[in-house]
Amino acid sequence: MNIHATVAGTLDKASPKVRDWLAQPRPMLIDGQWVAAKSGKTFAVIDPATEGKLAEVAEGDKADIDAAVAAARRAFDSGPWRKMTPSERGRVLHKIGDLIYENIDELAELDSLDNGKPKAVAKAADVTLSADMFHYMSGWPTKIHGKTIPISNLAAPGEYFSFTRPEPVGVVGQIIPWNFPLLMCAWKLGPALATGCTVVLKVAEETPLSALRLGELLLEAGLPDGVVNIVTGFGETAGAALAAHPNVNKVAFTGSTEVGKLIVQAASHDLKRVSLELGGKSPNIVLADADVEATVAGAAAGIFFNHGQCCNAGSRLFVHDKIFDKVVDGVSAAAEKIKLGFGLDEDTEMGPLVSEVQYGRVTGYLDSGKADGAKAVTGGDGVDGPGYFVKPTVLVDTTPDMKVVKEEIFGPVLVAMPFKDVDDDLIRDANNSLYGLAAGVWTSDIQKAHQIANRLESGTVWVNCYHVFDAALPFGGYKQSGWGREMGEQVLNNYLETKAITTKIG
Ligand code: NAP
Ligand code: MG
Repeated sequence: MNIHATVAGTLDKASPKVRDWLAQPRPMLIDGQWVAAKSGKTFAVIDPATEGKLAEVAEGDKADIDAAVAAARRAFDSGPWRKMTPSERGRVLHKIGDLIYENIDELAELDSLDNGKPKAVAKAADVTLSADMFHYMSGWPTKIHGKTIPISNLAAPGEYFSFTRPEPVGVVGQIIPWNFPLLMCAWKLGPALATGCTVVLKVAEETPLSALRLGELLLEAGLPDGVVNIVTGFGETAGAALAAHPNVNKVAFTGSTEVGKLIVQAASHDLKRVSLELGGKSPNIVLADADVEATVAGAAAGIFFNHGQCCNAGSRLFVHDKIFDKVVDGVSAAAEKIKLGFGLDEDTEMGPLVSEVQYGRVTGYLDSGKADGAKAVTGGDGVDGPGYFVKPTVLVDTTPDMKVVKEEIFGPVLVAMPFKDVDDDLIRDANNSLYGLAAGVWTSDIQKAHQIANRLESGTVWVNCYHVFDAALPFGGYKQSGWGREMGEQVLNNYLETKAITTKIG
């Protein structure tokens, strides 16, 4: 890997279309118009592989959030969106999915440059799942309906006619992170639009590019002005203003548990609806009878996919002591084979971490693990820069109180721990986390797998697989991993109010 390439070197690998698109400062989407920040400020988007500047984007702040919320309010209260039939809304959503597929290479390139992930991964995972999300959601507007309900209180049979009417919650503020830049837009926008809400989306400062390109596609698909407004800027200014805005009915947030708590505080002022998709420290449990080869591949993918920058990463590996050495050696060998490099190089399997801050966080955890007595079977360090590369790492000899075992690292760092029996202690250790997002179980005893799955405090459990996502499957966390679910039918609840209407007819 040539880690001393320049940003120009990286951009040379990009398509001419992407290079041209990045050559001018990218404005924000407010009320159907592409606008600069009211302050006139911009900020640099950094290439994590070279630390050079990729592009400039508008630095939106409170004033821009005010304008975006006003546009979303108008679009919700009196714009054409509200008057469109469910079928027409579904067609727009489907068209957005189609346009994402049509632009799959360009969107994957942008996410690769911006986030550092391999383009092939962005194409197969991020962009494909984003299109799928809009396609899946395009079927919902025509299927969101209430119920007729027989009532008993004060009523002779047939005296009252009661029914429920699901209604969009209104203007939604959405705040997203940098680990899956386009996909997080899709997870948030899809259900909000399917339910008829309007949106102000604040994207992550580290990865604003694909969201802005998506904004162009939203307009091309025929989304009316103001229905989706996309603001680039910082969390402490733009994000905080959105979370506290009096004209926003609901905030949907994905990111750290720490900021999730700040969102709740900001939204508590006027009791906005809040949904949260937060961190994790997910247990991946390997029983003695597991297929070792499949488990090794699954456990390695569970932690190293997306450079470990996944809220659901399988970061705590519990392995039966009979096969502990075999599995740890296998995962370590897989880690050593991973080819680090630039996202746009075809043979790259892992790129840099997203930012200098994230590099500092992850290498800080590696230092703390080693200082506490954990041993790195492989990896254990960052790679000298430029670029925020970290070696895929497997740590053993840990104790439950170590920071590397308890806290979310959000990098390619696995802690592996042996256990003796499948008993209450194992379940307790697996559940011994303030998080409860995902978990894995590897075994050829499917009965046992389900017994364990039922006892895990976790929104998702994968048996003999990991990282299996689908637009139709709900995803979200128990405990401090969040409130509510993303995707599936269940996510619609995040964006709906229920009205009960009763008429005296008898
Ligand atoms: P973060 O600080 O939680 O950021 C997520 C989003 O919230 C970003 O758009 C951020 O803006 C915004 N934000 C930050 N402070 C805010 C505030 N006071 N009010 C409103 N919005 C605010 O996450 P991060 O800094 O990117 O990463 C920190 C850690 O979070 C990671 O190490 C990882 O543990 C966790 N994380 C979890 C997920 C997940 O999918 N659950 C994703 C990413 C990170 P900026 O763009 O300015 O930061
Ligand atoms: Mg940040």
